[in-house]
Amino acid sequence: MATNVSIFMSSSSDIIKSNSEMLEKFYFKCKKRKSISKSQIPFDELCWTSFTITMICSVLTPMDLYRYLVEIGFIDTSVSSYCLQCSGQLTLIPSTTVIDGCQLKCNNRIGVNGSTNKTKLCSKKFTIRRYSWFHKSHLTIHEILTLTYYWWSEISQKYVENDLDLAHGTPIDWYNFCREVSEDVVINNSEKIGGFGITVEIDESKFGKRKYNRGKRVEGVWVFGGVERISGKCFLVAVSDRSANTLLDVIKEWILPGSIIISDCWKAYDKIEEHNNYIHLKVNHSLHFKDPENGAHTNQIEGLWNLAKKSLPNTNRSKKMFAGSLATFMLRTKWKGKDGFKLFMQYAAKLYSDDSTTDVTETKRLKSACKENILYFI
Ligand SMILES: [Zn+2]
Repeated sequence: MATNVSIFMSSSSDIIKSNSEMLEKFYFKCKKRKSISKSQIPFDELCWTSFTITMICSVLTPMDLYRYLVEIGFIDTSVSSYCLQCSGQLTLIPSTTVIDGCQLKCNNRIGVNGSTNKTKLCSKKFTIRRYSWFHKSHLTIHEILTLTYYWWSEISQKYVENDLDLAHGTPIDWYNFCREVSEDVVINNSEKIGGFGITVEIDESKFGKRKYNRGKRVEGVWVFGGVERISGKCFLVAVSDRSANTLLDVIKEWILPGSIIISDCWKAYDKIEEHNNYIHLKVNHSLHFKDPENGAHTNQIEGLWNLAKKSLPNTNRSKKMFAGSLATFMLRTKWKGKDGFKLFMQYAAKLYSDDSTTDVTETKRLKSACKENILYFI
């Protein structure tokens, strides 16, 4: 508890600080009473922090914690509330034999040996974690929520390992699961940008470890991106090369016809105006940042690159990790100013609630269509 409070208090956000004070007062009030029901917690006023998580997991009974996680969309029960054996509706029951302190039980009556006259209770029991973000893990719900929260807050894996006293490697796995969800959110929320008269800045940039890192130069990844002026909507695509063919394919896929496209003088962009009624303005960066004649500049996309590079730790720039890390960066940008952890948990709950949902199928389809080029768009 002490560690959580200190992390939480070290945050610079005033909102989080006032939330902390409120939670602390509430927590100590709760401790004086014997039990607290979930209706007594000021959930509407809470924003999510590791302290919120600890407080909720400590003061609620296991059954109330489950009900609350369902209520706020951290567990999706569209599939998990039915019995696998007889499709009967499941009921929540307390249980001392499982880590969660409660289970789901089927009270449906089923025919014995196919008879309709003779029936018995199905009584099949299921974990509350079936088809959820918490499924197939030996960690407690508190630990998983905290781990996910730490990942969203960009806390180092080493710190998480010590703070939650986890086995070496556990945070690595969970951080990877989280990044996979990020990829899914980003891919499934893709849309084209630009349109007639709308200005789009494009640029390509290499992301990768620099040569002075332990004397070894690691191959980087080329990323091509576009930002729509005013709205700030953008796409980022990891590309295998910077050739005209590769970049034009991406431009035609993600930028709507009639857009005013601004780029630097990279030769691959020379034939943009031959496609989709695009208007193309160039800015020669070796001479100036803003073209004195047409006023073209690419300040907005360069700002995006700087933010992206700053947010991606060097170790995450290997090709394997890059996709998920970049998607996570895009997601943090998209959800800036919102309760990102809450939105993330709600998305993960939906994603894990059923393997056969169209969302997952769509992602698989997109992923295979993209092959090596991983498409991102926010
Ligand atoms: Zn049943």
